[in-house]
Amino acid sequence: MARLTLPAIVILGAGALETARRVQMLYAGSQVHALQGRAEADVSYPELRTHLCDLYARGTPIIALCAAGIVIRCVAPLLSNKGVEPPVLAVAEDGSAVVPLLGGLAGVNVMAREIAAELAVSPAITTSGELRFGTCVLNPPEGYALADIAQGKRFVSDLLAGESTRIEGEAPWLDDAQLPRSESARLAIRVTPHAWDGRDNELVIHPRSVVAAVTGAGVRSAANADLGVDFGSNADADTRSTADEAPSACSGSNEPTHSGVQIAALVREALDAHGLATLSLAALLASADHMADPALAEAAVSLNVPLRFAQPRPEDGEPPSNVLHAALRVPYQTLHDDADTGVALALAALAIDPNTIGRARGRLTVIGLGPGSADLMVPAARIALNEATDILGYETYVKMAGPLRADQRVHGTDNREEMQRARHAFELASTGRSVVMVSSGDPGVFAMAAAVLEALEEGGATNADWRAVQLAIVPGVSAAMATAAQAGAPLGHDFCMLSLSDNLKPWSIIERRLRHAAEADLVMAFYNPISRARPWQLDKALDIVREYRAAATKIVLGRDIGRPGSTLRTITLGELRSSDVDMRTMVIVGSSTTRGFANGVDGGEWVYTPRWYE
Ligand code: SAH
Repeated sequence: MARLTLPAIVILGAGALETARRVQMLYAGSQVHALQGRAEADVSYPELRTHLCDLYARGTPIIALCAAGIVIRCVAPLLSNKGVEPPVLAVAEDGSAVVPLLGGLAGVNVMAREIAAELAVSPAITTSGELRFGTCVLNPPEGYALADIAQGKRFVSDLLAGESTRIEGEAPWLDDAQLPRSESARLAIRVTPHAWDGRDNELVIHPRSVVAAVTGAGVRSAANADLGVDFGSNADADTRSTADEAPSACSGSNEPTHSGVQIAALVREALDAHGLATLSLAALLASADHMADPALAEAAVSLNVPLRFAQPRPEDGEPPSNVLHAALRVPYQTLHDDADTGVALALAALAIDPNTIGRARGRLTVIGLGPGSADLMVPAARIALNEATDILGYETYVKMAGPLRADQRVHGTDNREEMQRARHAFELASTGRSVVMVSSGDPGVFAMAAAVLEALEEGGATNADWRAVQLAIVPGVSAAMATAAQAGAPLGHDFCMLSLSDNLKPWSIIERRLRHAAEADLVMAFYNPISRARPWQLDKALDIVREYRAAATKIVLGRDIGRPGSTLRTITLGELRSSDVDMRTMVIVGSSTTRGFANGVDGGEWVYTPRWYE
């Protein structure tokens, strides 16, 4: 599936914020980036040129609410590099003009029309072909792919020079286009799954109408020799004299396995044998039994198509074509069914939506949102959120993860039963959904990642569907790091993180750890320092610490760091009272070497723990 790349909406001042928020509504999950010190939005950046260049180089679509000239000057140095060209638009900050600048083949005009419609103005479309024909012939809709871009550009300039075209095949999106059509035209737009033969009077567009089924792991391949790799024989393990040298041989198994590259090569060979273009492929399909086989995922990436799975039934026949029967819900023709290579091909009359083919491998991604503000969330967490079908977590955190799209299901709960939530996540993911579990800070620090693994270790033993879920854990900026960074570098030397909550561990353990940590002169970061249900524990903890540390020991208190109304205080162990602390506070207790000096801001100070010891 194509990765959804959300645009960055970039503003230079508060005057553009209102228009920016209107544009943001069109792209749920997108963020408004504001120049530091000039405006407050979702993400702040220090300098426009560097920021736009970073976004552009990463292929992020850019909607800049400023003069077109500024945007052009900023990205100009990158334009000679013919790599990615994301859509880049300039929008007048009062919303009165929308100017598509770059990314004609990445859909910039489509975006310009969407934004202009929202702002009730006309977009400044300047692409001749698009103006003349009412559509960008070179930018076919989802499910179709242009065979060759250079050929496409030549073709459109021929049309603009006054030639007409025939249309061969099904191109429903061109029905309303004002193309000069003629049955006897020299030029033809040909919509076909067959590979382009190089004729320059044809614009070839491939419908994604072919599905390749592969048996995946453990298939004997007649083509192995051709691929220059000896997989050994699966008939008799003792005869596998070359098995050790075979790069993909899976030790401990008698079955030869294919690497992803080899599977992709076998699929390409089968397509070639039928004259089909690789771009006509809608999906790679395999039996659900092989869901966790990394070679399949690698093959799908190599072929640049989604990977789907189905469970063949006895009535579906023999592999490899049986999985096509189980997965496809549209009429198709089996073009290729080769038990030796383990590849079968299905051809449908029209493009097939890959989301309707069998099902995806379910995913569960446990992410950390960081302390609160969007710019302290790692990009991998944002990507996981964008790709999620379902979002689970404690309600406050799910809100922090927003804005979410209307099609994303939220399973917010104030249910503190974490194991139950973890099991629910596996239930959802094992039906093929993409589930994201949110935690604040880092998910592995006193948060959901450990609960998820505990649920998997318990439940996965008897549940193969749970084991097949693609589980990933994305780290986040933990409260101790976020607080430390604001204060300076109090964690600059050895430190430990302790949760003072005795909900899941006996208080005696906490006391013992505090004693050892205090005695070892470790800096300590206290999570869950106090709550209404645990009113006395913090005082007790501080009493223990005071047995080992001087009253002058530095204490950093960070409350709601990265969130609205955050506060940061530096005091001493002698001054610290449990009434200074609540459950939204991070308490960092310095070591004997932790020190501070004035930072010149309102009597504040930088606190740090030197890297050396005397
Ligand atoms: N996984 C989280 C920690 C969860 S435990 C993380 O890595 O940050 C919850 C405790 O973390 C709170 O009681 C508080 O001590 C601390 N905490 C979480 N977010 C905080 C924030 N934004 N500012 C200060 N402390 C925070």
